[in-house]
Amino acid sequence: MGESVMSSTFELANGTETVAKGVKQNSPQPAACPICGGEQIRESLVAPDRFHLRKQMYRLLRCQSCSGVWLASPPRPLEMWQHYTEDYHKAIVTAGEGAATSRWKPQVKLISQHKSGGAILDIGCSSGGFLSTMKSPAWKLYGIEMEESTAERARATTGAEVFVGDAVDAPFAPASFDVITCFDVLEHVYSPRQFLTKVLHWLKPGGIFYSMMPNIDSWEARVFGTHWFGLELPRHLSHFSPRSLRYLMRELGFEEVCLKTPAVSYMERSANYVYSSLLEQMGYTPTPQAKPKAPSLPARVVRKGVRVALVAPLAQMASLAGAGPCMEVVFSKPHQTRAE
Ligand SMILES: [Zn+2]
Repeated sequence: MGESVMSSTFELANGTETVAKGVKQNSPQPAACPICGGEQIRESLVAPDRFHLRKQMYRLLRCQSCSGVWLASPPRPLEMWQHYTEDYHKAIVTAGEGAATSRWKPQVKLISQHKSGGAILDIGCSSGGFLSTMKSPAWKLYGIEMEESTAERARATTGAEVFVGDAVDAPFAPASFDVITCFDVLEHVYSPRQFLTKVLHWLKPGGIFYSMMPNIDSWEARVFGTHWFGLELPRHLSHFSPRSLRYLMRELGFEEVCLKTPAVSYMERSANYVYSSLLEQMGYTPTPQAKPKAPSLPARVVRKGVRVALVAPLAQMASLAGAGPCMEVVFSKPHQTRAE
């Protein structure tokens, strides 16, 4: 990894960038933590986009006060398309749609423990994998999706009303929703504070916000460092921990209902990044995860053994310790908001 690549990335810092007319303003490089305003900031790590096995390096900063982590000088919105490739979308859509009923069963169950019906908005609904599992006379379905053809698929399969565009531009009226879901989205938005303020605005009093996102303070993130799968550079712009998320949500006026780290694991994918780095150092050209190959039968047998003997027990232990790689959170909008 060449110094020249790193220094050219760093020169983008202190972003007093001008943005093309009509394009959403990219947040300037904050001098303070975007979550708590703290000024004790240090470099957390420097790493490339390992999903596509690209060379450009990105820098993460960490707030010493609230443990918030964010991407220094992120790509501008106009440039982001280069990082959301067809391979990336294929991987996301496949993961969301594949056996949707079983894939989303835990989420549907959790919602049913809090709400029995009403209006539900899924932000980042993709082709409607999750919404399709909520289809019933009890629920009126809404979605937000960035891409028109994907939104059309969601409309066709779920009957949901889907807004196409940036979530903060969606024209929903205040107090419209009983439930707002947002799975693996918050880490992609330029201003989580602005995004979550909209969410609070759109929720009915007593409504719930249900979200999932990577946990930057997880055991796996610490062990794998720059090879951790949850980094997803430069698509993930913010990296939350239980502490930093709680801080932000409380400050905005949400009430915590639950925050846990389920027994899931990115270990195999992170280990694959380590393996790719080793191959590169040995002069080979590894296959990026963006273009996965079907594993051979012996490889599948080994993988199964590792999952049962190592990954599953470690994932269980990390989950019990609240240090799993993914956070699952529910926050509610109080019946009495601060402004009232
Ligand atoms: Zn902070």
